[in-house]
Amino acid sequence: MSTNQHLVIISLDSLGFNDINEHQSELPTLNKLVNGGTWVKEVSGIYPTLTYPSHTTIITGQYPNVHGIVNNTKIQTTRRSPDWYWYQKDVQVPTLYDLAHKNKMKTAAFLWPVTAGSKITYNLAEIFPNRIWTNQVLVSLKASSPLFILEMNKKYGKLRNGIKQPQLDEFITACAVDTIKNKKPNLTLLHLVDMDSMRHRYGVRSGEAMAALRRLDKHVKQVIDATKEAGTFEDTNFVILGDHYQINVDKMIHLNTLFAKRGWLTGKPDQTIRKDWSVLAKTCDGSTYIYTKDFSQIQRLREVISGVEGVERVYSNEEAIARGADPKCTLMVEAKAGYYFTDEGSRSNVVERVMPEMMGHPDRYQGVHGYDPNKPGYKTTIIFNGPMVKENQTIDGAKLVDEAPTFAKLLGLKFPEPLAGSTIEGIFKD
Ligand SMILES: [Zn+2]
Repeated sequence: MSTNQHLVIISLDSLGFNDINEHQSELPTLNKLVNGGTWVKEVSGIYPTLTYPSHTTIITGQYPNVHGIVNNTKIQTTRRSPDWYWYQKDVQVPTLYDLAHKNKMKTAAFLWPVTAGSKITYNLAEIFPNRIWTNQVLVSLKASSPLFILEMNKKYGKLRNGIKQPQLDEFITACAVDTIKNKKPNLTLLHLVDMDSMRHRYGVRSGEAMAALRRLDKHVKQVIDATKEAGTFEDTNFVILGDHYQINVDKMIHLNTLFAKRGWLTGKPDQTIRKDWSVLAKTCDGSTYIYTKDFSQIQRLREVISGVEGVERVYSNEEAIARGADPKCTLMVEAKAGYYFTDEGSRSNVVERVMPEMMGHPDRYQGVHGYDPNKPGYKTTIIFNGPMVKENQTIDGAKLVDEAPTFAKLLGLKFPEPLAGSTIEGIFKD
């Protein structure tokens, strides 16, 4: 196996096909990568189209029902801010970085979801404090490579302002640039979240989101330049990808408030839910899981949910599994575009308008994701560029599950077990 092989994967959170299709000319770095490489235009995501399940699919080639990361956060109904799936121990299948590690390759990751506690050589894990008295660096320390994060924070900590954007992406990019220059990892995974944050707060096509996209284009250039300084540019393949897109919203659906009115759960004034629920909605924003305990009126439940304004479709457990979602759910509910779900259990109304002045409060958004990956105009995208990649080419489509086996081939590796996806052979030079 060649140890000169280098792969840099940059995830621009919420990058959609539309972003490249409509704004390519305003994005000098991405434009160059598209023209000099292969652009796979429309990539179908996984259900639910959320960041943690999607990033785990990207590096495992499996759907959530197999890899185990079925949502961003865990079911902890008594907490206003439940834990995220931070730790790799929740991932049930081998990852791309495990494969690289087994083949004696150096790996690095920067805010890549669900990597805390992993064997990544240089890791700044994405792990946020969800209790106000916890310092983010201290939490991240326990979960990352300790000496590495101390060194990075000492050098570049001044760029950071808590987890505020755009400073967080500047800090993370500086750490990645430093690591590429000084450690020359074979596999680099970088996750930048600026544009996703702006879309949630200001809307999908807002000026703020587009400004973030232009900042991300600059960060991609900084990373490419780092490989030139490191002397690894000539044998580095680059991948720029999105995990999902977003859809604008102006209405919320509080299904737990409806279930509380029916006596199926008890909502507390702080919107959390008492432990003794028999029916529970657990949001994925654009969709929501429904879980039940000792509850026999499933058909009645389906009818009640189907009658709610903004509900597009109710999937059975079997249908949810067929779409790769949580096998443990009783039902899964898809919202119409413009609506999203919360977990709140004691609002005045089940459906509520989202007002601009609500922005900045938990779970109040102008753009969300989590919908069915096949909703119209909702595809993500991926760009390949480098010595192994065909130049000046576009491919119409692929699936998110096809990315991991393709990355393995770019590193000269192969997953030993069968994956849900297959290698996108069309990107490779003959
Ligand atoms: Zn995301």
